[in-house]
Amino acid sequence: MSKIARRKFIQLSALAAAGCMANSGRQVFAQDLPQVTEDDPMAAAMKYTHDASTVDPGSRSKPDAEQNCANCALVQGNDGDTWRPCQIFPGKTVNANGWCTVWAPKA
Ligand code: SF4
Repeated sequence: MSKIARRKFIQLSALAAAGCMANSGRQVFAQDLPQVTEDDPMAAAMKYTHDASTVDPGSRSKPDAEQNCANCALVQGNDGDTWRPCQIFPGKTVNANGWCTVWAPKA
């Protein structure tokens, strides 16, 4: 490796390392987000509950029997996690066993 190529390699490596450090500072993990509460105004408006089994299936606007946050199209994060981000509650997590009126089936 020539002297110039080595210098360029070191400069690019330093830039890449700086980029990784800067990016890791902005990365947000689900476990770092607050859990939405059932009395949160938005959650109350959406009739969100931490436990979908407490919802009368007959009161749901969509007929699917098995509805919870874990099988909702709007949930994010990792399968198997108890608390996961949701597109309806940005910056917060919902319980995988929860439910709200916005529930939609995964495609
Ligand atoms: Fe749960 Fe889906 Fe409602 Fe989000 S939109 S709270 S994932 S049911």
